[in-house]
Amino acid sequence: MSDAESAADAGFDEWLDAAEDGEAYALECANGHGSLPPRRVCPDCGSTDLEEVALPETGAVQTFTVTHVPTPAFEEDAPYATAIADFGSVGITGQVVGVDPGDVETGMTVELEITVSETTGERVIGFQPV
Ligand SMILES: [Zn+2]
Repeated sequence: MSDAESAADAGFDEWLDAAEDGEAYALECANGHGSLPPRRVCPDCGSTDLEEVALPETGAVQTFTVTHVPTPAFEEDAPYATAIADFGSVGITGQVVGVDPGDVETGMTVELEITVSETTGERVIGFQPV
């Protein structure tokens, strides 16, 4: 693994730590484009002037898919719903937890819940409906 890759991984781990403590944040450029770490450059406009801003406590499900036949890495977790939720300026992809996948709806209000994949044991972003 290159130095750049390990720095990137550390950045996201730190973000997961912050999210677990209820201190999730986004990186925003002066144009209001949001993204998640690790970033040094805005993915929308290329700005390198990124500022940490606190994420709203809740987000809204924008779109989702229900997976019944997962990839092997997630086979113990199926069926599950994967959603993209808007948290202010940033869209976050995560697995909806604590609810039957059939009950997930567009526009549903969710909060971040850092969870552990039953298959890989790694931390992943989850969404808990509120
Ligand atoms: Zn930008």
